[in-house]
Amino acid sequence: MARKDRLKNRKELSRTRVSYASSERVAGESGVVIKDWGGRLPLAVAYPNSYYVGMSNLGLHTLYRLINNYPQYLAERFFWEGGAAKGRPTLSVESRRPFTDYVAVLFTLSYELDFLNIPSMLADCGMPLYARERDETFPLVIGGGACIMSNPAPAADFFDVFCIGEAEAILPELLPVLAETAGEPKGLVLERLAKIPGLYVPSVPPEKPVERVFPAELTQGAGTAVFSKATELGEMYLMEVERGCGHQCRFCLVAGVFCPLRYHPLELLLKQAEEGMLERKRIGLVGPVVSDHPQATELISRLRGMGVGLSISSLRIKPLPEKMLGELALSGVSSLAMAPEAGSERLRRIIRKGITEDDIIRAAALVAEKGFRQLKFYFMLGLPGETDEDIEEMIKLAEKAQQVMSAAGRGVRLSLNIAPFVPKPSTPFQWLGMEDAVLVKRRLDIIRLRLEGQGIEVRAESPEMSQIQAVLSRGDVSLSKLLAAAGGDSLACWKRAAKLLEVDSPSLAKTRFDLADKLPWHMLENPKQRQRLEAEYKAATKEI
Ligand code: SF4
Repeated sequence: MARKDRLKNRKELSRTRVSYASSERVAGESGVVIKDWGGRLPLAVAYPNSYYVGMSNLGLHTLYRLINNYPQYLAERFFWEGGAAKGRPTLSVESRRPFTDYVAVLFTLSYELDFLNIPSMLADCGMPLYARERDETFPLVIGGGACIMSNPAPAADFFDVFCIGEAEAILPELLPVLAETAGEPKGLVLERLAKIPGLYVPSVPPEKPVERVFPAELTQGAGTAVFSKATELGEMYLMEVERGCGHQCRFCLVAGVFCPLRYHPLELLLKQAEEGMLERKRIGLVGPVVSDHPQATELISRLRGMGVGLSISSLRIKPLPEKMLGELALSGVSSLAMAPEAGSERLRRIIRKGITEDDIIRAAALVAEKGFRQLKFYFMLGLPGETDEDIEEMIKLAEKAQQVMSAAGRGVRLSLNIAPFVPKPSTPFQWLGMEDAVLVKRRLDIIRLRLEGQGIEVRAESPEMSQIQAVLSRGDVSLSKLLAAAGGDSLACWKRAAKLLEVDSPSLAKTRFDLADKLPWHMLENPKQRQRLEAEYKAATKEI
């Protein structure tokens, strides 16, 4: 398409917003920022999943808040609108404009399967999918978030720039360059962006691995910026308590992409909570292991004193201070989630979970004693080295926890949330493949059969969708063709595209890399981190 036609197309797309104009969403929100477009650099903040899912994502709120804090920039939100919007441009929540009205589109990606929604979000706005086919008349497409920080390769053909790091560290460098270079030839803009620490520009390959950037301390707070009831956690004010994790379980991405471990200061959290309470009576404490915050018990106790209800995203089984559990119970928390991850001591050792069966049973007993109504255990299936005996041990462990809780006579319910193990880049298990989905499903059926009859609810993620997640998690740049051909986020779309392109998706998920292989995310491999991952991998595989 000629440049003139593209510009005409953009004008037509802009006009379509009139027919969609609706402020229903904004009317149901508070905290939304509506800025005058005059003299400001417009930026689209996009979440490639539904409004319901995306509005409970703190990364999106943080990006929106940080950009809008600057008077010279404006950020508006976009969500994937699914089948309802098929063929129509996705429009911003705030002003109902398409992507093509903005200088840049900043996608935040926390979950691999959301990659599947990016092609349709771009195409429906009349944007060529592939970065090389877009010139400066189109907005720059920029990606960030946990998936991008671990492996941007599967979507590298769609994006102009990737952010390898945290928004607080990247935006102060990125935004002024976007403002200065708006409208300049795209090649020159990308050359400039490639020089900024933490930015990876696929068309300007870096000479050495891109270093992840992050603030040394958390000083600004991170919480819900826009309140809406139409989202999963809409009844709460979400507040990040910490970032990173000190435990380094071998399967987990957190240590690889969010380290070092940093805590938000107690006084800042309390001040933030006061502001959040103006909107919500309940606060959700968010972090990889909230109970690890050195002042977690005091925080919970003081929040309780402020009369606020609490919810907590994660507790570690050990250490699990009894006093903190007591404070949580008094704060009205009724349900707790903990993650044994594996049923046997051997498997927990392989994954470096650092907890024993005694720790798990003690935690279950404490939960019952303190009067909580529900305990959720998170487990994984298909972990490296897993056998049928490990499944038997998982079942016995759940039964034992149930017995201990029943003995307390408080009627506390146990449920299991089971996810197939998906190997992730930037973890010691990055070289390993996913277990066969058929075997995972068979083991899942056994667990269900044995536990559901005993009143233990078993919820599980689909092994087949997890297999797609595994392909995307460690995939290379060739996957962009598959993503483009899929045209949707369902299993059927994926299977159809894989058949069309003759891609053996189950085999890709099971790929085992050699230590000598060049990994698809090699451009992000930090030598020091690589050394640690290799040492951990070798230690784990000795036991498999
Ligand atoms: S699984 Fe939990 S405890 Fe282990 S490294 Fe990840 S966040 Fe930390």
